[in-house]
Amino acid sequence: MGDPPRVTSHPDQHSRRRALQRIGLGALTFGAATLAGSGRSAHAGWREWVRGIYPYDEVAPKLSLTFDDVPRRNFAPFVLDLLAEHDLKATFFVEGDLVRVLPHVVRRMVKEGHSLGNHTWSHAALSRLKARQIHRQLDRTQQAVDDALGFHHRLRLVRPPFGAPWIGSWPASDRRRVGHILRDRGEFVVLWQGQTDDTRRGCTSKAVQARVIAALERRRAGVLVFHPTDCARRALPAICRAIGETETEVVGIEALIEAKYGAPLQQLVASASVDR
Ligand SMILES: [Zn+2]
Repeated sequence: MGDPPRVTSHPDQHSRRRALQRIGLGALTFGAATLAGSGRSAHAGWREWVRGIYPYDEVAPKLSLTFDDVPRRNFAPFVLDLLAEHDLKATFFVEGDLVRVLPHVVRRMVKEGHSLGNHTWSHAALSRLKARQIHRQLDRTQQAVDDALGFHHRLRLVRPPFGAPWIGSWPASDRRRVGHILRDRGEFVVLWQGQTDDTRRGCTSKAVQARVIAALERRRAGVLVFHPTDCARRALPAICRAIGETETEVVGIEALIEAKYGAPLQQLVASASVDR
């Protein structure tokens, strides 16, 4: 069928990349995500102001596939086709401003059994926002999803853009403040464990592929995050095949939360919050 069409860069991809480098995301590697103020082993003393999945959670050898900054025209439909072909389910962390442009793609995500999470309206670093703005970023995205689907589909999973303020060098007070806001809204924060480096400058699909497949073979992939880049797009077919070949068990984020906290997500929402 010839070469796949190129995926258009996000307009602010370069500024995002700079932001990622600034907050240290470029340094992430499999199984060694750098938690703010904590370093690698740091889960000692790490306080979860909001429930969720953090880099230190023992997810591996299971794998959870997550896609950020979606939907995008030349990426999300391709990924959905690929996931269907391999009978895989994923979590799509949608941006409200993109949902509004491609509502039918969001309908397809839900129809095909994938999970949706909130990635804010405009890819905002929550740590830089006032409470009111955080609510607005999340609420507008929720509304866009509801409008796209034609019914209320509560997004409980939040992937904070840039991982802020959990990943990088943000002060603990930011984690407490933002964590409390998310907790009080009944959200769960979803960070990641495997950086695919699919947004890195000079990224090649071969490098992404090799990196992820090596992690799968070592059974260390955990929660993997992909972005809508040409690099990821070209790497994904081989990665999906490798998931099958390595017989990796793929699970949803909701299942990971249930396993971690010992109750289904809905029940956790209804129960008393942690660390009050
Ligand atoms: Zn993002």
